[in-house]
Amino acid sequence: MSSSHDLLLDVRGLTVRFPTPDGVVQAVSDVSFTLSRGETLGVVGESGSGKSVSNLAIMGLLNQQRTAISGEVEFMGRNLLTLPPDELRKIRGKDIAMVFQDPFACLHPMYRVGWQIAEAVTAHASVGKKAAWARAVELLDHVGIPNAKSRARDFPHQFSGGMRQRAMIAMALVHNPSILICDEPTTALDVTVQAQILELIEAVKREFDIGVILVTHDLGVIAETATTVMVMYAGRIMEYGPAQQIFERPQHPYAWGLLDSMPSVEKRLSALVPIEGAPPSLLSPPSGCPFHPRCRYRFEPCPTERPPLAVPTQAPDAHADACHLSWEAKQREGGKRSIARLGDAA
Ligand code: SF4
Repeated sequence: MSSSHDLLLDVRGLTVRFPTPDGVVQAVSDVSFTLSRGETLGVVGESGSGKSVSNLAIMGLLNQQRTAISGEVEFMGRNLLTLPPDELRKIRGKDIAMVFQDPFACLHPMYRVGWQIAEAVTAHASVGKKAAWARAVELLDHVGIPNAKSRARDFPHQFSGGMRQRAMIAMALVHNPSILICDEPTTALDVTVQAQILELIEAVKREFDIGVILVTHDLGVIAETATTVMVMYAGRIMEYGPAQQIFERPQHPYAWGLLDSMPSVEKRLSALVPIEGAPPSLLSPPSGCPFHPRCRYRFEPCPTERPPLAVPTQAPDAHADACHLSWEAKQREGGKRSIARLGDAA
């Protein structure tokens, strides 16, 4: 259990709206969560679920002129949503760092990898060029780049996809951040390299004693490493709680759908059941429960009454979900999707 001292981020009622000529896009609605030191929060959902937009809002990376953002994002006692841009810039990249899906898009093709990391070193600290280069080499070595001293002189195209992602993680660690936000960090990589990058993120979390937000569309990616899981759909949280509980007994039909469509060693391909339909347009999200048009379990109140995100009253030790189903139905159906995770037996 984390103490208040360990609490890094406290997000309350985060809401993001994009006004467009066609109407207002309700990208994120009333999202609340916390992140503590040592925690890996896995944020899962299909594209358009609001998971990436939430993190861009936290980082102050959304155009304030074109976006309406409300709620509170408290980082070490300061609300990031009301900080002046230059104050926020000092925190971004230093205390809160981000790793994106496509390292090629973030690394400049014309500059040596080591040089780009050294640039990041000098961006927030008054360090000489030589010391910045030495730090870049040290970090590349730290994230597992072999022969870091000579490979630092390579250009991004001379690195493999996995090495580029390692370089991005090195760059994110330059100023010993407290929070690392990884947005689909393994989507562009093959399965073996994916596992190595996830291991590296876990190792970095332990070593630097930080909190990690891992955003993904794939529950499998966070199955082994997340300590907490937040399932998002149509800009809202559908289920939120300890990973062990969510993988053992997921409570929300959308999470069941994600699990039913997830390949695993035991499951034959023919046993995979995709979620029918597509995520809704956030210009006019469905009334009531946003998942109701795709939900196999919907019943009378679902199309009109939006279920609040809450811990079921009959089970105070369970975690929060936003679904009208009875606790008995959630237990019964959730139990069928139970996933054994390495380490949970310990
Ligand atoms: Fe399905 Fe109704 Fe639960 Fe929504 S509230 S997930 S429609 S059963």
